[in-house]
Amino acid sequence: MSENVNRRIEIDPCPRCGKPHHYALKVTRSRISDFLPGIGGDTPDERSFVRLFTCPVESSSFQATVSLIVERGFRIKDVEVLGDHV
Ligand SMILES: [Zn+2]
Repeated sequence: MSENVNRRIEIDPCPRCGKPHHYALKVTRSRISDFLPGIGGDTPDERSFVRLFTCPVESSSFQATVSLIVERGFRIKDVEVLGDHV
């Protein structure tokens, strides 16, 4: 079973125009059914995803790496860039 959560990230500086931008992400994650408490430790997991973003100033796209915290008991299946929020 999977669910969607929205996240906001900041790209600072933008590789195109050098200004900071905010983007909305749609994260599809699933609950790990066989998750057992005590396994994996208490440190949250971090996963990196490379996605295509559009600079709203230059109207050109660029690739950037997004690091997301994965809550315990969940697995991130997909990350989709919804758009920019300057
Ligand atoms: Zn930009």
